[in-house]
Amino acid sequence: MADLTLTADQEAEAQRLAEIIAQKAKEEALRIARLLVSKADHELLGATEFEVRDRVHAIGVYALETALRERKKWGYQGSSTACPHCGDSARFVEYRPKGFVSLLGELRLSRGYYHCGHCGHGHFPWDATLRLSPQRLTPGAQEVVCLAGIQESFGKAAERTLWKLAGLRLSESTGERATEAAGTRLGERLQAGAVFGQRQAWDWNRDARGQSCAYVSLDATGILMQGPAAAKAEGHSRAEISARKAREWERTATLTFQKTPR
Ligand SMILES: [Zn+2]
Repeated sequence: MADLTLTADQEAEAQRLAEIIAQKAKEEALRIARLLVSKADHELLGATEFEVRDRVHAIGVYALETALRERKKWGYQGSSTACPHCGDSARFVEYRPKGFVSLLGELRLSRGYYHCGHCGHGHFPWDATLRLSPQRLTPGAQEVVCLAGIQESFGKAAERTLWKLAGLRLSESTGERATEAAGTRLGERLQAGAVFGQRQAWDWNRDARGQSCAYVSLDATGILMQGPAAAKAEGHSRAEISARKAREWERTATLTFQKTPR
């Protein structure tokens, strides 16, 4: 983490937050210490590492929750604000609590709720500011959930990979919906001409007519499987990869290819 330059007010606020977080850190340190002294030498590592990680995450999620709670306004924008659905005036109703999954685990926060009498929709301005997803994921959690979601089936990502690698426990459908939503946003940005990373001039190959050309191959159809006793078997369809996910891959690859510079 880079050294930060804070104003005097920010430094005072940081000191105050640190006091609050330190209490939690002390509790968790004691939990970790009790866990560790209870283990025999051969149990000190392995499963214990995962338990220690959970306790360390608990300190982190408490820090996030505390910082969010101490912001006070919680997305309050006055007694009324513009409705994002119809542009009419939406009035403040109340603060509503909700749980979200962050990179460090579950956190709960209260957000100002506004209701529009004209179109009947409600909205939470703070959810948009904090970039919380409809799947109740924070941006950090979204990033790792979507990364896992494009590596393997949503079921395995949810049951095994996210839990083991990141300590996150969430349902298969949450992972699926978050990954598909990210794929859709990516597709929309690519279609709008967005370029990710540095612009680059490519030295394309030329075909017989002097036209620049490139080849792209994509396999989203089958996976080779072994039969009983290692016998040769037909390729199976990727039953675990939903057809929707495969289509998303194809769409993204096609869009990427179309937007590649000539
Ligand atoms: Zn409205």
